[in-house]
Amino acid sequence: MNLKPSNRIQNIEESSTLAMSAKASEMKSKGIDVISLSLGEPDFKTPSHICDGAKKAIDSENYFSYPPVNGYLDLRKAISNKFSVENNLNYDPNDIIVSNGVKQSITNVMFSLLNKGDEVIVFSPYWVSYDAIIKLADGIPVHLNGNIDNDFKPSPHDLEKSITNKTKLIIFSSPCNPTGSVFTKNELEKYSKIILKNNLYVISDEIYEHINFLDEHFSIGSLEGMNERTITLNGFSKGFAMTGWRLGYMGAPRWITNACKKMQGQTTSANCSIAQRAALVALNSGTKSTIEMKNEYLKRRDIVYNLLNKINGFKVNIPKGAFYFFPNIEELIGKHYKNDKINSASDLCMYYLNQAKVSLVPGEDFGAPNCIRLSYAASEKDLMEAVNRLKNSTNNLT
Ligand code: PMP
Ligand code: GLU
Repeated sequence: MNLKPSNRIQNIEESSTLAMSAKASEMKSKGIDVISLSLGEPDFKTPSHICDGAKKAIDSENYFSYPPVNGYLDLRKAISNKFSVENNLNYDPNDIIVSNGVKQSITNVMFSLLNKGDEVIVFSPYWVSYDAIIKLADGIPVHLNGNIDNDFKPSPHDLEKSITNKTKLIIFSSPCNPTGSVFTKNELEKYSKIILKNNLYVISDEIYEHINFLDEHFSIGSLEGMNERTITLNGFSKGFAMTGWRLGYMGAPRWITNACKKMQGQTTSANCSIAQRAALVALNSGTKSTIEMKNEYLKRRDIVYNLLNKINGFKVNIPKGAFYFFPNIEELIGKHYKNDKINSASDLCMYYLNQAKVSLVPGEDFGAPNCIRLSYAASEKDLMEAVNRLKNSTNNLT
């Protein structure tokens, strides 16, 4: 038999954020001095009190059995309380599911709600995996484009125009990966009116909630009438520097969590018992370390912003949250290095990787072919060196 990967798998690309960072790691393992700014991953260690929670779960609490499919009740209660106190969101512990990262939460939702041909409006630029997961679930991503001049925020009018009778869901992140934009209450109110008028549902990905330099995080699900229409996603990877623990969660109307619970029960059973015990400690021990990390990102943001602005051909927005810059580089497309022409953001990223030894991610993979993404979750020293290298390599283009 001639077995090959399914059409479903052939129809999606490898995650480019992961692929670019794997490329950088491979070069590093060969002794090449690459600075990787491609992966959106905190460069901090998980705070030690959270690690202690995991150690205790192993050493004295015996958390070795399958956890409940939707997560331990005490953790879901703590998440319900967090939603209520910090976000003014009303999700009962039974409206919450703990998963293996927000990536799995999104997968659960798409597979539980989409039928073949259903459309999902994706605010663009978007995080790379939204499109792939929608396609895996037989849905159709419909991109709603913002651009650097409107801080990458699509207008409510454009949102309304992109709705068809096949539209089921809308998805966005705020603070946004890759742009760093943050939606205000006022902007979300305008979107919510359209969502309610058209009986749609929205997935609000708030994984960067704690890396918000405006300190004004607002959850669309807290607006009038939106609790029944909003799937709120959040997790521990970014704000608590816990990427490897694989911890995310969702809050949603009960009929949606019931569907997702069925999906999760048949695929991963639940997520890691030890990680969940650490998550409980993280939620119950205040935000001191989260705030310290955020302040560190803010310092780096300002340093990098000043340096990026000095690169000819980069047009840069100041990010209000997350830890990415997403400069528009369209002026550099068409330039040459020796005989090689830079035809795209991908070409430019490969040029920077090979010449500057700095790895970035091309905007094509985020739905923005004129942009490139730089993660500043790295040390100040590496960031300054990397941007200096980018500047020198850019100056070598003719
Ligand atoms: N949403 C956004 C916007 C992201 O940038 C990421 C990347 N980590 C995720 C979801 C998934 O995060 P995780 O699976 O680590 O919770
Ligand atoms: N979300 C991060 C990023 O955009 C981590 C990698 C991933 O899961 O795609 O780089």
